[in-house]
Amino acid sequence: MTGFLAVLWLVGIIVSMLISIPRGNAVIGFIVGLLLGPLGILVVLFISDRRPRCMHCKQLVEADDVICPHCRKETRLSRIPGR
Ligand SMILES: [Zn+2]
Repeated sequence: MTGFLAVLWLVGIIVSMLISIPRGNAVIGFIVGLLLGPLGILVVLFISDRRPRCMHCKQLVEADDVICPHCRKETRLSRIPGR
């Protein structure tokens, strides 16, 4: 039973990280997976994506994108005041 739980926990850590890496939250994904195991997967799914979104088409853009690669308009969202 302990072995099964350990595998389940390890899967939780790996999946949490795999979800978090493309979102720029790799460390958070690892910590959440480590603390919560399989439940961490659910948590990281609800942690908001830290990448900025285009204000026109709502697609994800890179933080340093000035022109949205999806709709070709100025993103501007990457310049959030106070960050
Ligand atoms: Zn766009």
